[in-house]
Amino acid sequence: MYQHLFYNERCKLPVGKVVCVGRNYAEHARELGNAIPESPILFMKPPQALRTLEVPIRWPTEFGSCHHEVEIAVLIGERAQHVEPGRARDYIAGIGIGLDLTLRDLQNQLKSKGQPWELAKAFDGSCPMSAFMLPHEFPDLGAIRLALRVNGEIRQKGSSADMITSIPALLAYITRYFTLDAGDVVMTGTPAGVAALAVGDDLELVLDERFSFSARVAAMPV
Ligand code: ZN
Repeated sequence: MYQHLFYNERCKLPVGKVVCVGRNYAEHARELGNAIPESPILFMKPPQALRTLEVPIRWPTEFGSCHHEVEIAVLIGERAQHVEPGRARDYIAGIGIGLDLTLRDLQNQLKSKGQPWELAKAFDGSCPMSAFMLPHEFPDLGAIRLALRVNGEIRQKGSSADMITSIPALLAYITRYFTLDAGDVVMTGTPAGVAALAVGDDLELVLDERFSFSARVAAMPV
């Protein structure tokens, strides 16, 4: 069963929900033909969405294509409600990098009917997650780089400097609506370059050009 990791050690924090933000990088919003939102678009994944990157990536292939969305992940260390942006760092236990796997064909069908995205975004295993690094590794939350290589080629590349809503502002916005508890994770949006995964793909997720994690797309779909 999934447990959060710190520097590849098991972490004592419980495993909670994952709160995600859509369209937090302008270029990615444009590549999918979406308007740039006036306020963050939030959705959630349940704890069962989380997997370590050591577990091969799988998705229910009967629903069509599955896109990679590489994202900076924030692990919450204590209960957070109505957080002030200036205090956001106090609630962060770790920074990692993960994938917001998205059944894109299904999401497009749901969007065209005006329905919620959960079926396309919140399935079991839809949030493969790296180990978390301690927050002091990232003195500037507004300058964390992220990248995804697929079979050795850069597919996605960005920096938290390009986020429409910064990490502190995002924690403030989320906690106006939902309590974040210790062990919850916030996924902070994906830069441009999302594309379909294929069975056998080798992935490398790179956090801040310093921490690299590999993953593989499973041969057998579920
Ligand atoms: Zn995403």
